[in-house]
Amino acid sequence: MKSLRDIELKNRRVLMRVDFNVPIKEGKITDDTRIRAALPSINYILEYNGKLILISHLGRPEGTVVPSMSLKPVAQKLSEILGKPVKFMPESIGREIEDTSKSMNEGNVILLENTRFHPEEKKNDESYAKELAKLGDVYVNDAFGTAHRAHASVEGITHYFKEKAPGFLMEKELEHLSKLLESPKKPFITLLGGAKISGKIDVIENLLPKVDRILLGGGMVFTFLKANGYEIGSSLLEEDKISLAKELLEKRGEKIILPVDIVIGNKFDNNAERKEVAAESIPPDWMGLDIGPKTGEKYANIIKDAKTIFWNGPMGVFEFENFACSTKAIARQLSEQTKKGAITVIGGGDTIAAVHKFGYSDNMTHISTGGGAALEFLAGRELPGIEALKV
Ligand code: AMP
Repeated sequence: MKSLRDIELKNRRVLMRVDFNVPIKEGKITDDTRIRAALPSINYILEYNGKLILISHLGRPEGTVVPSMSLKPVAQKLSEILGKPVKFMPESIGREIEDTSKSMNEGNVILLENTRFHPEEKKNDESYAKELAKLGDVYVNDAFGTAHRAHASVEGITHYFKEKAPGFLMEKELEHLSKLLESPKKPFITLLGGAKISGKIDVIENLLPKVDRILLGGGMVFTFLKANGYEIGSSLLEEDKISLAKELLEKRGEKIILPVDIVIGNKFDNNAERKEVAAESIPPDWMGLDIGPKTGEKYANIIKDAKTIFWNGPMGVFEFENFACSTKAIARQLSEQTKKGAITVIGGGDTIAAVHKFGYSDNMTHISTGGGAALEFLAGRELPGIEALKV
């Protein structure tokens, strides 16, 4: 892959795919982290006198124009952040945009409308990709969050460019995540939680030979406890994953660590009645909503010696104050480990939200902007958006 630093930018139209999929409520952006994450590439391109054309998706409009998913408010926000005008075009392809792109001056910035307003985007449609490609002389992809999708603005488009490169955010993501797979400082510990096992089994399989321990928590843990023959009450369960979980435990049980106690509630509610029980003693009609204090202590003891830690998925329903205890404790401990020199990498929207909520976002080595893409990468799969940038 080329680097953005190797590409001549002066007076050229730089078409950059970014991930501006930000949360918007009533026309207002409630979190601009993703916009700011693209600033190193944006500022570099402008500093080197490129003409910048930005493309992104926002939400899931399913191939139709949904006004609440327009990128227009993002153009305004970006303009405020950059302190210069950002021209918004209410389409992503067409003659008018092509003409406008050709009349741009060095240092101008244009943001195009949501690519997913076109059904062709998700279909990786050749003619839509070709139309998009007409808007740039060089192509940059800084949208790590969509690198696992073979969409037209991510994959198809690259076939029409001789010069293409990852942006700095993409580069940083790949650097941190590759290190986990290739040369993690040992001991290397992975913490996996969250509601769903789907998407994480492959990560467990791929990481098992490389990690010292995988510590499990969250709702996904109950499928493993069930696979161990325990009763799990009305806790989350993925029936179709029990046999896979069983296989993993039989194959590499010594590396996969399960909770020894669980905080249970009598309903899925912050004000549920709350009890701490042994992992094998969850009563019927009660559900596990957090890992227990003994487990917390056990995990803390393992984490304290770790030199590399990857964390994806909250340990409990952290959105409920009464069941947030272990997720908060893990976030705090990881921030302390970072200060002691460990590498800490956080992935996944909910885990990032948790780390943010408890005030530890600034203390981690790397917070990955792409939950799904990071998991696929760590599962050992090739990401179409990355493969397409290879020259
Ligand atoms: P995921 O997207 O699979 O990483 O799931 C994240 C979600 O898992 C968060 O919203 C948590 O509230 C939820 N979660 C964590 N632990 C549990 C649990 N024990 N039962 C149900 N949901 C959980």
